[in-house]
Amino acid sequence: MKNLKFQEHLNRVLLDFSPDQHLLIVSKTRTLDEIRAYYDIGHRHFGENRVQELLLKSNELKVSCPEIKWHMIGHLQSNKVKDLFKVHHLESIHSVDSIHLLDELIKNEHRLNQAVGIFLQFNTSREEEKSGFETIEELELAITRLKNCQHLYLQGLMTMGALRVDDQMKSAEACFRELAEVKAELDQKWDLDLQLSMGMSQDYKIALAEGANWLRLGTMMFDISGD
Ligand SMILES: *Cc1c(COP(=O)(O)O)cnc(C)c1O
Repeated sequence: MKNLKFQEHLNRVLLDFSPDQHLLIVSKTRTLDEIRAYYDIGHRHFGENRVQELLLKSNELKVSCPEIKWHMIGHLQSNKVKDLFKVHHLESIHSVDSIHLLDELIKNEHRLNQAVGIFLQFNTSREEEKSGFETIEELELAITRLKNCQHLYLQGLMTMGALRVDDQMKSAEACFRELAEVKAELDQKWDLDLQLSMGMSQDYKIALAEGANWLRLGTMMFDISGD
C-alpha cells in the first residue's frame, strides 16, 4: 500500500523529466524505511548533506540495497573527507565549493576504489552565507586540478537559487540560467560536457526548463500525504 503511493508519486514527478534529466532523492533526516520504499520500486540515486548521517545510512543499507548510489550534496569540511571516502557506493559529490576542499579530496583519492564524480558548486546568487566558486577563473583552476586524477572526475556544476529575495522563482530562474551559461562557456573552451545539478522541491520545474541534469528533491518526495 505504502509502496504504491510512492510509486504513483514518483511516476507523476518523472513525467516532466526528459531522458537526460535525473532525479536525486534527498533523503537527509529520512528513515531507512523511507529510503527503502523508493529503492524497492527501482530508484537508485539518493543524496545526503551530512557525512556522518551518510556514512551511517550507507552502512545500514549496504546489504539490503546493494545497487544504491549515494551523492553528497551538503557543505563538506576538509576534515570529513576521509570519512566520506568510507561511504559504500559513493557516486558523486555535488558540493565542492573551494580549491582548498578540492585539494583535500585529491590528496585522499587513493583511498577510493571506484570513480567519484565532482560537481563544482558555483555561487550564482552571490549570497554571502552560500559557499561556492565565484568566478570562471576559479572554476578553470579546479578543472585543471582534476585533469590528472585517478578516481575523481569532473562531472558538472552545481548551484542553489537565492533564498532572501522578493521573487524567489524569478531569482531561481536567473541563477539557473547563469549556471547554464557558465557550462556553455566552459564546455566550449575545455571540450567538456558538464552536467548541471540544480533545482530543489520549490524550484525544480524552473530548473527542468533551464536544462538541469540532476534535480535534488527532498521534501516533495516524502511529504506526499496531501495528494
Ligand atoms: C535539502 C537539500 C535539497 C533538497 O531540498 P528540498 O527543498 O527538501 O527538496 C537540495 N539540495 C541541497 C544542497 C539540500 O541541502
